[in-house]
Amino acid sequence: MSVRELVVLGTASQVPGRRRNHNGYLLRWDGEGLLFDPGEGTQRQMLLAGVAANDITRICVSHFHGDHCLGLPGVVQRLSLDRVAHPVHAHYPASGGHFFARLRAASAFHETAEIREEPVDVDGPVASGAFGTLEARRLEHPVESFGYRLVEPDGRRIVPELLSRFGVSGPRVGELQRAGALEVAGRTVTLERVSVPRPGQRFAFVMDTRLCDGVYALAEGADLLVIESTFLAEDAGLAAEYGHLTAAQAAAVAAECGVRRLVLTHFSQRYPDPKRFAEEAAEVFDGDIVVAEDLTRVAVPRRRR
Ligand SMILES: [Zn+2]
Repeated sequence: MSVRELVVLGTASQVPGRRRNHNGYLLRWDGEGLLFDPGEGTQRQMLLAGVAANDITRICVSHFHGDHCLGLPGVVQRLSLDRVAHPVHAHYPASGGHFFARLRAASAFHETAEIREEPVDVDGPVASGAFGTLEARRLEHPVESFGYRLVEPDGRRIVPELLSRFGVSGPRVGELQRAGALEVAGRTVTLERVSVPRPGQRFAFVMDTRLCDGVYALAEGADLLVIESTFLAEDAGLAAEYGHLTAAQAAAVAAECGVRRLVLTHFSQRYPDPKRFAEEAAEVFDGDIVVAEDLTRVAVPRRRR
């Protein structure tokens, strides 16, 4: 069974606290493991959350403030220590290439893992594969920041009862999937006849930003949206000043964009009670709301029907 879930490694903005590590998230998406914004301490959080270096296939950095990237040296070195054999792609704002270079070579180690740097400097697709398309969109923050989204194209799901009704079995099923049609006992069976539409799934990751077009473009139709909500509405002035969102703003985006499950995170340490983020969000968004906690897992909701 393929697994699609978010493993929350850290949820604090700016400085870690007793209960919250610096940012960090691993998205398990079938065979892929996308590590987003590894803040300081990510390597140890991975251990505690049951994530192995070998699970990582891609690293996506939104921007080069420390809470989003100071975990890179540990993660990069761990990939080599654990002899990870597959290449790991790394996406980050191209304007911060000098930061990435320093973090990647922060101290001495024997490098064996292959990291393929694919910096981002324009909006659009950054990678595609069996997982769908990974896209980046520019956000608005005091330093250049990009959000990411994973878009799986719509497909078709094969229905076993229809296969047997048309007499397709064994290796011929694969043949039908590849060719789109088959001759069975003198008649043509098309893929459409034995399958039903399967809507693609979408995941979006929106980190440090004030409200801007990029936020909406990324969140559009997301099954799972991970979005920063550094502040509560009472501090909307600070959010605007520092280029961040409030929980209410994040939730309004989710409502407008048809998001199904909203994950709020990247909390300022000034608020002792995380319930308030959920309460504020619930006033404007009636879908699932998750106030992210370290070392928890959030499933990508089941496909739309
Ligand atoms: Zn941050």
